[in-house]
Amino acid sequence: MDAEMRDRIAGCAVGAAVGDALGMPLEFGARVPADRLVRDMQLGRLPAGTFTDDTEMALALAESLLARRPLDPADLAGRFVSWLQAGPPDVGIHTRSVLSGVAAGQDWRRAVEAVQQRKPDSAGNGSVMRSWPAALAHWDGLDALLADSRLQSRVTHPHVECVAASAWANAAIYYLLRGTGVQEALSKATQAVDLPPALRAVVERAPSRQRHELKNSGWVRHTVESVVWGLLTTDSFAEAVVQVVNLGNDADTAGAVVGALAGAAYGLTAIPASWRAALRGEWPLGSGVYWDESMLIDLADRLASR
Ligand SMILES: [Mg+2]
Repeated sequence: MDAEMRDRIAGCAVGAAVGDALGMPLEFGARVPADRLVRDMQLGRLPAGTFTDDTEMALALAESLLARRPLDPADLAGRFVSWLQAGPPDVGIHTRSVLSGVAAGQDWRRAVEAVQQRKPDSAGNGSVMRSWPAALAHWDGLDALLADSRLQSRVTHPHVECVAASAWANAAIYYLLRGTGVQEALSKATQAVDLPPALRAVVERAPSRQRHELKNSGWVRHTVESVVWGLLTTDSFAEAVVQVVNLGNDADTAGAVVGALAGAAYGLTAIPASWRAALRGEWPLGSGVYWDESMLIDLADRLASR
């Protein structure tokens, strides 16, 4: 692994957390007017620079992958439950339903099946938001990368589009880490993953969308749309992330996903220093340990090393 790839691997992890933290104060808000875009870490429900559930769940996945590779879904489900039981301020409705079943003693498969059967169309962005650690753990093998990206989704989000979106985002990271240009990396990812037609159409149409057309809701299709739009209509880490989080609504989650991909594309050194310096978040929840950029870089390093 050369220095450039190392920089991209660190950029993916830090970029995801930075995008999450930048979007945190904008979550649930309306689209920010184009002439007043938020460009710095601001106070929201949490202090400025704090990452949220998107990064917390990614850290749970990362630690599961550090303990066991290939991914052990029961181990991952257990780590998610520990996180839920620590009382995170923000948990997706679907994720909470599934993990509550696991916490009550159900096997993860049964828990997730029961929730999905009640709401078969539920296809939120809760698994694509946290999928990047599987891309770093398997940066040297696309098949294993795709398998674990899909499996981590199935633990809470088995809908075909959630599973495909997780695999697609991580396939894009796989190519970006190798220095492939953004447009080519996204199209290679689309080829590598058999995207359901509706999701494929979203990916293909996204770059020509106008800002006011992007809903950026918690629906996985909307997140993928915002992310592709952000990546293909800008040419820097900062601009990609700024454009996406200022769409409001599920700003932190779309920010986390675009941050992971833009970080893999442009590398750690391209992420504004003031954002990196402001980054913080308690992990594990309730431990009193606050993570900063250096701990995320170290985690990315450990994930990517054999
Ligand atoms: Mg969040």
